[in-house]
Amino acid sequence: MMYNNLDDSPQDNEEELSQLETQISELFTLLEKSEIQIELLKDENFQLKSQIQILQQQSKPVQIKSHQVETIRVPKENIAIVSPSDTNIRQNKRKCPKCGASGFSIKEVDDKTRIITYVPSKIYMKKKVCTKCRFEF
Ligand SMILES: [Zn+2]
Repeated sequence: MMYNNLDDSPQDNEEELSQLETQISELFTLLEKSEIQIELLKDENFQLKSQIQILQQQSKPVQIKSHQVETIRVPKENIAIVSPSDTNIRQNKRKCPKCGASGFSIKEVDDKTRIITYVPSKIYMKKKVCTKCRFEF
C-alpha cells in the first residue's frame, strides 16, 4: 500500500499539474478579457468625464446669473439699514478728522489740561482720541 501510494502520487501530481496549467491558461484568458473590459471602462469613464466637463461649462453661465441677482439684492438691503438719520449723525460725531476712522476706533477720554470745575469734584473736558492714528480732537 505504501509503495502504491508513493508510485501513484507522482502521476496524480502530474495530472494535477496539467489540470493546474490548463486552469492557469484559462485564468490568463479571463485576465485578458477583464483587461479588455477595463480598457473599455476606462474609455467610457474618459468619455463620461468629458461629458461632465461639457455640462459644467454649460451650467456655469446660469450660476453667474444667479450670483448677479444676489449681488444686486445685497446693496438694496444695506441702503435700507443705513437710512435712519440718527446713526448718520452719531457716525459724524465720532469720526477721526485725520484718518477718517469712526465708531469703536474713537475713544472718549478726560482732557486733564482742561478742567471745567473743581466743585464738587474735578470735572475735565472730554476729548476724543482716535485709537488708529492717536489723533486727539
Ligand atoms: Zn485717526
